[in-house]
Amino acid sequence: MILHPKNETFEHLDPRSREIMLKTVEFFESKGKKKLKHDDHERVWYTDFLDFVKRERVFATLLTPAAFAGGDDGKRWDTFRNCAFNEILSFYGLQYWYTWQVTILGLGPIWMGNNDKVKQRTADLLEDGGIFAFGLSEQAHGADLYSSEMALSPVADGRYVANGSKYYIGNANAAALVSTFGKNRETGDFVFFAAQSDHANYECVKNVVNSQNFVAEYALHDYPVTEDDILSTGQEAWDSSLNTINVGKYNLGWASVGICTHAVYEAITHATHRRLFDHSVTEFTHIRQFFVDAWTRLVAMRMFALRASDYMRAASTEDRRYLLYNPMVKMKVTTQGEEVINLLWDIIAAKGFEKDTYFEMAARDIRALPKLEGTVHVNMALIIKFMANYFFNPAPFPEVPTMSDPANDDFLFKQGATRGLGKIQFHDITLAYDSLDLPNINVFKQQIDVLRQFLATAAPSKEQADDIDFLLNLGELFTLVAYGQLLIEKAKIDAVEDDVVDQIFDFMVRDFSRFALQLYSKTGSTDEQMALCLQMIRKPVKDTGRFERVWQQHVAVLDGAYAMND
Ligand SMILES: Cc1cc2nc3c(=O)[nH]c(=O)nc-3n(C[C@H](O)[C@H](O)[C@H](O)COP(=O)(O)OP(=O)(O)OC[C@H]3O[C@@H](n4cnc5c(N)ncnc54)[C@H](O)[C@@H]3O)c2cc1C
Repeated sequence: MILHPKNETFEHLDPRSREIMLKTVEFFESKGKKKLKHDDHERVWYTDFLDFVKRERVFATLLTPAAFAGGDDGKRWDTFRNCAFNEILSFYGLQYWYTWQVTILGLGPIWMGNNDKVKQRTADLLEDGGIFAFGLSEQAHGADLYSSEMALSPVADGRYVANGSKYYIGNANAAALVSTFGKNRETGDFVFFAAQSDHANYECVKNVVNSQNFVAEYALHDYPVTEDDILSTGQEAWDSSLNTINVGKYNLGWASVGICTHAVYEAITHATHRRLFDHSVTEFTHIRQFFVDAWTRLVAMRMFALRASDYMRAASTEDRRYLLYNPMVKMKVTTQGEEVINLLWDIIAAKGFEKDTYFEMAARDIRALPKLEGTVHVNMALIIKFMANYFFNPAPFPEVPTMSDPANDDFLFKQGATRGLGKIQFHDITLAYDSLDLPNINVFKQQIDVLRQFLATAAPSKEQADDIDFLLNLGELFTLVAYGQLLIEKAKIDAVEDDVVDQIFDFMVRDFSRFALQLYSKTGSTDEQMALCLQMIRKPVKDTGRFERVWQQHVAVLDGAYAMND
């Protein structure tokens, strides 16, 4: 149920995609752990990886939409196969994933725009092994995109000069094209244009971070821009910034899954062989509990991300449910990743600091994912808009199957206006929740019933609704319900065994109780709300046999199952 790169055959993918995945695993296993860690410690720019990407035409194949494939039938933008690539890269190191991720972000405004000349140029640059960058953030403005100061000043006849700087921009040192967001100085309209990082008027000022990645500040000094470089303007430019993030933020969950997977193998192998007081560390009951929690949380992260991909690939102007599940992959899966690493680190303790472990990188890097591409708060604030329709105004939808077909994800590049989120409808959650009869799902359903009652009879007042802190907590409970819904759907599709599903809902019940207590404890909660919060606090159903089976059959067996080549 989790990736084992040396055993995985990628049979679920077509031959060209399979070849890419296998060769990527082979690249890292041949590079070996010693060199991987050396490059991390010495902050070596990953030329070897980028050479591999160029030689094997990896980004060209995975990131060129079918419309610009030029007859190469392996080229398409296919979220299903990109999941596998995301997972492999982060399994070996977030830095390798990051250069791919910011390339995806950089390509977003290009493929979403309406400039065919740049699109063709981009397809050629990808074929040449080019990487890309996404110049959205500015040092002074963070999440406040409205205040962007990068300015495009008209000169004459469709020619402009760009002035301004961007901050925290991955790949900005070497990108073939940097999709840059700014404003037309004359009209105030938003604009996206492509800049070349090797142009004389483009200055890569510095690397803002101390890592293998280049997360740069760059400045444009009277940088010449023509209509040929403009990707989109006005509302389209604005929409393509947010729609690009919609595509990109999904990958962050996979980065967390890959990191946690490698860390689990290291942790269980270390703990099983560590003997204290004449016992293996894994004989301690709390250690077993931590491991079972870490593994079930990881399995749930992966199941949710896979199911969310189905909704992304099935999306259309009539079905925008992905706009709920996608931010959840970003903020829920990535924060679950932090919990997994916390649990594992409490188990392996000092070992997690050692410089020759993967874990040392995992402990550092897992923190990044919740913070990138909109913080957890920004994404939570976004999904709260869906809550009323989600619970009280469902709509019928055809069932979405596993979307594994080798097709181009056209809709992701024409998602349209980013408005109207409050109008989006979802399918009835009882379809999933009533489809499995397991002890902890049944407890969880009782918790959901009380939450519904809370929203129907003790909904936040105007004052509470203006208090983001209060809403964030309520949002955590809502998130758990949607998380559980997709987990059940995925469990049914993949026939995941009952023991595993019920053990997953063991932590889901505990998490629900924790967030209910937090909401209760808010100084602004009313007596009625507090009473309902107390009713939400439940305990999972104890089943020692189920716990032992999950521990023995799924977790303990991972001891020694995978080690990266030296
Ligand atoms: C390693 C790294 C790589 C990055 N790569 C890129 C890149 O390639 N391209 C790029 O354009 N950017 C990149 N970024 C920037 C990243 O996207 C920003 O960090 C992010 O947009 C948030 O901005 P900020 O961190 O400055 O936080 P701020 O915007 O300063 O936010 C401060 C606090 O306010 C909260 N907040 C802000 N707005 C809201 C809201 N509406 N509702 C609720 N809470 C809110 C936030 O949650 C946060 O806690 C990168 C950042 C890092 C660290």
